[in-house]
Amino acid sequence: MISGVSPLISSGGFFSLGMQIFNEVKAAFLHLFFPHCCAGCGTDRLHSDSQICFRCLAALPETVFERLPGNPVEKTFWGRLPLQAATAHYYFTKRSMVQHILHQLKYKGNRELGWQLGRIMGLQLLQSGRFHTDGLVPLPLFPDRERKRGYNQATLLCEGIAEILRVPVLQDAVTRPLFTSTQTRKGRIERWKNMEGKFLLTNEHRLRHQKILLVDDVITTGATLEACGTVLLQAEAVELSVAALCYAAR
Ligand SMILES: [Zn+2]
Repeated sequence: MISGVSPLISSGGFFSLGMQIFNEVKAAFLHLFFPHCCAGCGTDRLHSDSQICFRCLAALPETVFERLPGNPVEKTFWGRLPLQAATAHYYFTKRSMVQHILHQLKYKGNRELGWQLGRIMGLQLLQSGRFHTDGLVPLPLFPDRERKRGYNQATLLCEGIAEILRVPVLQDAVTRPLFTSTQTRKGRIERWKNMEGKFLLTNEHRLRHQKILLVDDVITTGATLEACGTVLLQAEAVELSVAALCYAAR
């Protein structure tokens, strides 16, 4: 044969070239309709497994509270809730990248972002050596709010943390009562305020003698975490710690 290439190999070459073009066109279409962009800055230059680019990850303001006994988050709960340890991973400020990322997590359905941030939290908790945990409890949302959103962002964080710490997520340990909005507007707001701090211990047996890490997205006054933590501590011989993604200083 003059060219030295058999017809079979030649057609195979055309086939693989065709597949390559097909895959490139497919990737371009997928990117057009399902763009994979950084949750911080929007660039599409990021690893396919990541929701945040390296530049944004490096720019997020870490607190390193997990390594500091007596940190501001722990002080928030002094005299209110007996905790083994408490931390929040990033400082929250308004109009910041942290606020933008939190918005993506809570309202834009970016579940992968929640899992990734959870894994980041898990690594820091593990490396600190201060958080000894048998199980993770996500701070529950009101059932109707979770149904509307389709997920609880604290559960996503827990699932990411669980991958690193290799402990279970105890989703049914504590719940919030159903909030039905059938009353007048004023009555509803007052009732909502009353309901805000209401939690029900639904699986006391599962919590007994466990070291529990209660997880939420943001700590501000700590009132909701305090209410939920108080209920968790009703279980026999529970040791409680708290971890949040963000800390909004008062
Ligand atoms: Zn970015």
